[in-house]
Amino acid sequence: MHDRVPHVTRFAPSPNGHLHLGHALSAIVAHDLARQSGGRFLLRIEDIDGPRSRPELADEFRRDLEWLGLEWDEVPAQSTRLANYAAAAEALKARGLIYPCTCTRKEIEEAGAMEGSDPGASAGASGLIYPGTCKRQPPDPSRPAAWRLDATKAMAETGPLIWEDALAGSQAVDLSGLGDVVLVRKDLPASYHLAVTLDDAADGVTLVTRGADLFAASHVHRTLQALLGLPVPRWHHHPLLLDTDGEKLAKRRGSPALAERRAAGEDGRMLAEQLRLQHLSLGT
Ligand code: GLU
Ligand code: ZN
Repeated sequence: MHDRVPHVTRFAPSPNGHLHLGHALSAIVAHDLARQSGGRFLLRIEDIDGPRSRPELADEFRRDLEWLGLEWDEVPAQSTRLANYAAAAEALKARGLIYPCTCTRKEIEEAGAMEGSDPGASAGASGLIYPGTCKRQPPDPSRPAAWRLDATKAMAETGPLIWEDALAGSQAVDLSGLGDVVLVRKDLPASYHLAVTLDDAADGVTLVTRGADLFAASHVHRTLQALLGLPVPRWHHHPLLLDTDGEKLAKRRGSPALAERRAAGEDGRMLAEQLRLQHLSLGT
């Protein structure tokens, strides 16, 4: 399907826990799509997740990928790119496209926020649709503030936008299920959404490959590309591996870490082959 143009793909793990089978599948899909097209497969360590980030895991990730039989080019880790994030945030501030928000999760809950679909939630956002408290009434400037995208203003500025998913087809940007997402965290010059969009552009990624759990995030990323004048890649959100209960495999639920299987002497290349077959059977 992707074999005409040489694609630049990437695997972008966060070193806040061990890699598990779902990560292995993401890496394999990105790797294979690049290789089949004669393109490049990049590894980027997304290590800005504050206290949850454990830099020593990056080495483990490299050994895991090697064990799976993958080869990659590594690009600089996110922690080296903070100035780039801050510059983009300043530009968005100057245009009034982001606004400060001092709300805590508790305050957002108490304001009656609805559950949203922001996948950035796993990277520190609340996952609730922000009820707009600080947009209506500018907050106390002495409290620490995150900066949120004014989705209404952003959509008015960009007009209708489309993005292309290799499996799901053309998608019209719709921010209504996400609300005003956080672009600058209280503790960092970027959120997942801002960092990943800027990095994919800086790294020349042409095919953003990741699990379908992050599908909704692409509405935000496509919007940011339009607002910041960044190149627009294509996306490939692959189906997720499910465990025997039909639930998403997650490191939190204790699915075996790749490092553990590697240490136990399992053959990583064979595991990669099994995952390729399983991926085919998931219907891609
Ligand atoms: N660091 C993110 C994660 O591990 C990467 C997500 C993406 O590929 O955009 O979930
Ligand atoms: Zn607020």
